[in-house]
Amino acid sequence: MKTACIPSQDKQYSIGKIVCLARNYAEHIKELGNETPAAPVLFMKPATSVIGDGEAVRIPSYSSECHYEVELAVLIGSEARNVPAETALEYVAGYGVAIDMTLRDVQNQLKGKGLPWEIAKGFDTACPLSAFVPAAAITDPQALNLKLAVNGVERQNGWSSDMITTVARIIAHVSSIFTLEPGDILLTGTPSGVGAVVAGDVMTAEIVSIGRITIPVA
Ligand code: MG
Repeated sequence: MKTACIPSQDKQYSIGKIVCLARNYAEHIKELGNETPAAPVLFMKPATSVIGDGEAVRIPSYSSECHYEVELAVLIGSEARNVPAETALEYVAGYGVAIDMTLRDVQNQLKGKGLPWEIAKGFDTACPLSAFVPAAAITDPQALNLKLAVNGVERQNGWSSDMITTVARIIAHVSSIFTLEPGDILLTGTPSGVGAVVAGDVMTAEIVSIGRITIPVA
């Protein structure tokens, strides 16, 4: 079983579903040549895709282009169904750092055929995840600086203020479709600068005032 923890509160959650947004930062939409969606584009990763700080990403043999995407992770602390954006942040237990590992070549083939993305996004090790800080420690989830470096060279450096759909609106939207339960996690999209990693690379993903993870690629 995979767990999400808030060390400062000595709390642990069994991870349930991981609901992710695609195309939530305008600059990233541009770099991949996608259209800005009318409504949030959602996909899911299974809990089995989660690894922790220091664990390695293993690129599946059916891909030759594995991309990193640093993202703000939102840990749900209480059941949320159809909640309004105005009160949505009350359901958040904590915030963390995630990397949405994506087999871009496989995803592009699937997109071209109109097929689902799971094998490009949900494979084992596809969701490196940090420990969480309590929600109360983050005064504004839309004022966070996200960074990712590969082998010490900065590749992504963006701000959560550039999200198209804010964390509160994501929770409102997702909870109108899927009941969110304690231990569920939302990944909120990536800023621009995504790119490929290969075996031997080391990624460092950081959100200032939340935390940092170091993830090798095996
Ligand atoms: Mg992503």
